[in-house]
Amino acid sequence: MRSKNLKIRLLIGAAIALFFVFKRCSQQEVNPYTGRTQTISMSSDEEIAIGLQSAPQMAQQHGGLYPNNEYQAFVDNVGNKLINNSIAKQTPYKYEFHLLADPNTINAFALPGGQVFITYALFSKLENEDQLAGVLGHEIGHVLGRHSAERIAESDYWQGLATAGSVGADMGEMVAGIGQNTLLTNGRDDELESDDLGVLFMIKAGYNPEEMIGVMEILKAAAGPNRIPEFQSTHPDPDNRIEKIKEAISKYKKNPEIQGF
Ligand SMILES: [Zn+2]
Repeated sequence: MRSKNLKIRLLIGAAIALFFVFKRCSQQEVNPYTGRTQTISMSSDEEIAIGLQSAPQMAQQHGGLYPNNEYQAFVDNVGNKLINNSIAKQTPYKYEFHLLADPNTINAFALPGGQVFITYALFSKLENEDQLAGVLGHEIGHVLGRHSAERIAESDYWQGLATAGSVGADMGEMVAGIGQNTLLTNGRDDELESDDLGVLFMIKAGYNPEEMIGVMEILKAAAGPNRIPEFQSTHPDPDNRIEKIKEAISKYKKNPEIQGF
């Protein structure tokens, strides 16, 4: 009796797993700006809508917008220069750059669809315009690489498989474990892809791409010698990023037309 139950559970589990595998296959598409095949379950318009909808809350969480129009205009200027000189201009995304008041959290981030943020804490640590271009270029890379949309689709997939596993043979935890690792790995790849694109955008807009390394040094110093484990597990090591950035600089300096990974 027990083995019959198990058989049924395994069959149901396999059916659910197959459904998610099939669904994932049907959601594969080639990103026209990076040439990379990724799992995506939403349109560019949906990405833009999600970004616009979440932007006010994100700003709120970081003390709202920085109340200096001159600095904000400077950020806009650098961001627009990166877009107008690169393939970012050919995307359907609506780019907006926000300088946030937060004086403590050294951070920059992007919402899907083109909403880009930098905190005053990070802005004030930057030594020159090129470094600001490095930060914004990296964030534009997340938008164009559709990283949020990909993460959403991937987490749906792994959750689906975890459900299938738990129905099938109490393997849910194991599959969920794989899922989490995959998301973390994606996180690392996202950062490296964004660094790579950031370097390309800097070169195209006439900025010194070497300053992206300066940005990494600032992030490294900000993290301190006792980096918290979360930082290490979800972000690539800054030294590793610097190595990859150097590779990207020589790759794109030789041929700024090449794209893809
Ligand atoms: Zn990033």
